[in-house]
Amino acid sequence: MASRRQIWVGGVPIGGGAPVAVQSMTKTETADFDATMKQIRAIADAGGDLVRCAVPREKDVDVLKRIVVESPIPVIADIHFNYTLALKAIDAGANCIRLNPGNIGGPDKVAQVVEKAKAAGTPMRIGVNSGSLPKHLHELERENSVEALVQAAVEFVELMERLDFDNFKVSIKSTSVPNTIASNRLLSEKIEYPLHLGITEAGTKWTGSLKSAVGLGTLLADGIGDTIRISLSTFHAEEEVKVAWEILKALKLRERGPVLIACPTCGRLQFDMDTVVAEIEERLESYEQPIEVAVLGCAVNGIGEASHADFGITGAKNEGLIFAGGKPLRKVPTERLVDELFVEIDKSLQVGRTEVDAAKSAEGAEWLAKIEEENADDLTPERLAALEAANADGGNGNGNGNGQPVKPAMGVGAGYKRVRLDEDRSPTAGRRFKR
Ligand code: SF4
Repeated sequence: MASRRQIWVGGVPIGGGAPVAVQSMTKTETADFDATMKQIRAIADAGGDLVRCAVPREKDVDVLKRIVVESPIPVIADIHFNYTLALKAIDAGANCIRLNPGNIGGPDKVAQVVEKAKAAGTPMRIGVNSGSLPKHLHELERENSVEALVQAAVEFVELMERLDFDNFKVSIKSTSVPNTIASNRLLSEKIEYPLHLGITEAGTKWTGSLKSAVGLGTLLADGIGDTIRISLSTFHAEEEVKVAWEILKALKLRERGPVLIACPTCGRLQFDMDTVVAEIEERLESYEQPIEVAVLGCAVNGIGEASHADFGITGAKNEGLIFAGGKPLRKVPTERLVDELFVEIDKSLQVGRTEVDAAKSAEGAEWLAKIEEENADDLTPERLAALEAANADGGNGNGNGNGQPVKPAMGVGAGYKRVRLDEDRSPTAGRRFKR
């Protein structure tokens, strides 16, 4: 269940239907003003809405005041064990205080921090970590770690409510992806406060991104989670932000910058797709518009499933095609495909529409149709997928087996038209199909 309550961290709304906020954490010593500001700017440039800075020492809180003033995004002070640092961080103007009420020195210390936060209007994030549950929950933790995590979070929430404080969000973090999913699902049923999601010590860029995508993606797809942080073992905090955005973009929860789609390639590939895709991905990083760009490794399927893309390329050995919105724009030599694709993208973004040269488009369509014709019998992965979807509908070819129509291939030269289930190459006929 999505959170009903909303809080504000600086100018960023959290919860209550607000867009899921992306945050990261600086990896520098906070007392090192220049290094910390450099990293905060990198986080903000990558699309971070919020930044958290560790404040473990007096010298950190001394510098925090300047950081809060200079930072382009709200700053959350991360405090453990020392409640006086929390009080000082509020005085320093921190936009939010993150603390674990279980390790700050007892309820009276928590109460002092809450009183100060109330007076200053500073929100808090109260966090529970799987590694630091209160003693009285250790037995429950051994029996049912998910229930123990949720119980700890609920007890902290009740403590805040007894202190008449409701300006907070809650996090339950665990190194276990299944426990993170289960505990946040359960917690979201029990409280209305905004939830911060993260997987603790997720790992390297590769494993950490995957674990986070699975754990956070599952919860976000359920509508659970109001702010996210991807924890990666890299000094480059902006990488965490990029991963967070890819998760949000994949779930269509937020838009930011281009979306690149690319076929997985197969034996029909006729050009150096690895290099081409990497170059396109890199060049797209400088664009802010939410354009969708498709890269197809061959023209055998026509534009097919990439027909919804704003721009795309499909290549053969010597020449390829640039297309836009399902229509061919023009043919170009394969080695010019990427440069010319960006010429078209830039032109279109500049004038606000894609101009189509009718003669060049027709030439491109003819080239595409010829390739399709020559490979009409070729059962590509895309054609197989379409056939399987149609077959799952019971053989009438109109649906996906769930009572929903299969999305028709659109655009010039769209594949599948010659492959019909009433022909003898249906899966049930057994020809050409390996099951
Ligand atoms: S058949 Fe499909 S997967 Fe194979 S190269 Fe062509 S577009 Fe890519």
